[in-house]
Amino acid sequence: MNKYKVLDKKGEGTFSEVVQVKHVQTGKCAAIKCMKAKYGNIDEVNDLREIQALRRLSPHPNIVQLYEVLFDRPTGRLALVFEIMDLNLYELIQHRQQRLPGRHVKMYMYQLFQALDYMHKKGIFHRDIKPENILINKSSKTLKLADLGSCRGIYSKPPFTEYISTRWYRAPECLLTSGGYGPEMDVWGAGCVHFEIMTLYPIFPGNDEIDQISRIHKILGTPDHRFIQGLKTRGNSSSCDFIPRKGTGIAPLIPFATKSCLDFVTRALEYKKERRLTAEKAIFHPYFSDKKAKLTISLPQSYDSFASEKKPLHETVGYHSNSLPNIHTGQISNKSKSSSWTERRKVFESVSLTVWYYCAIICNLLYTCLYI
Ligand code: ADP
Ligand code: MG
Repeated sequence: MNKYKVLDKKGEGTFSEVVQVKHVQTGKCAAIKCMKAKYGNIDEVNDLREIQALRRLSPHPNIVQLYEVLFDRPTGRLALVFEIMDLNLYELIQHRQQRLPGRHVKMYMYQLFQALDYMHKKGIFHRDIKPENILINKSSKTLKLADLGSCRGIYSKPPFTEYISTRWYRAPECLLTSGGYGPEMDVWGAGCVHFEIMTLYPIFPGNDEIDQISRIHKILGTPDHRFIQGLKTRGNSSSCDFIPRKGTGIAPLIPFATKSCLDFVTRALEYKKERRLTAEKAIFHPYFSDKKAKLTISLPQSYDSFASEKKPLHETVGYHSNSLPNIHTGQISNKSKSSSWTERRKVFESVSLTVWYYCAIICNLLYTCLYI
């Protein structure tokens, strides 16, 4: 039985190809992320950061929802089934001639910071905030954070990998230290994204690492000597000898921004991570005091943090260990006999709809007969 039919290609990232599919039974659309890497066994799949994090974070209105995991043991192929979104933030601004309305930008940013605040409170940081990893539904203006493949547990011990996150959105502490970064880097990334969706161009489009930090200094200025000395103790000393520079500031680049908006971007792009806005504080910034920006979002009451990011997950709901995504034939084959509760509910919903539909037709016919 083929469970999904492939309709279209949605996107491609470093680690995957994403296709739009239709669930054959329910007719509902979904996005399937087909991983380029192969996996040896289920434990390896369960250990994946993306799966661990999504299971811990779901459901949240601003984090893309993982429906199920399809793993084909013989070939090692892995595919993740997600809710479908219209496009990513980069695609939204790519060919635009005119800026997005300020209220839309604000709505998107509010949702992005809601997602970040939730993640950080759950003890996870994203590490790859960029427009391509932020998904949008155009009509409802809903934003959902995606691609949790690079995320880390806040409480796992640094130093982390030195080169992480896409260069243009990389925070100074990621560029200058040997892995001495944390959740603050997500706020920097979100600040860069904010600037980009306001102006339709990236704020720091560095050609390489040196050019990246130099572009940051050109706008924000070089940090003081004591700060640089502090960095030196953590390593990478030779790359921290900068000619002192004042910086143009962000204000001249966004003359159209309101005072609160400028303050918000400036504080999200604070050079020193200790002084940067936190995601939690960002939500209460005056920039968002305008009620129109706030969407009705219901969050779980309690947050639990997770200390060990390697903790394996043993849930098997929606886990079809022998299902194979086969994008080349345009079909997703499914050899699994067991169906999850969600799927059963969907089938139930579609059966009830059909019953209602036929009832309505019969009533209509009876009414017409009686009338005649
Ligand atoms: P990678 O880890 O390979 O970077 P991503 O999760 O970022 O993969 O997905 C790559 C691209 O696929 C995204 O930039 C986006 O354009 C598209 N995409 C991913 N998930 C969805 C989804 N749920 N709905 C629609 N498009 C998606
Ligand atoms: Mg990506």
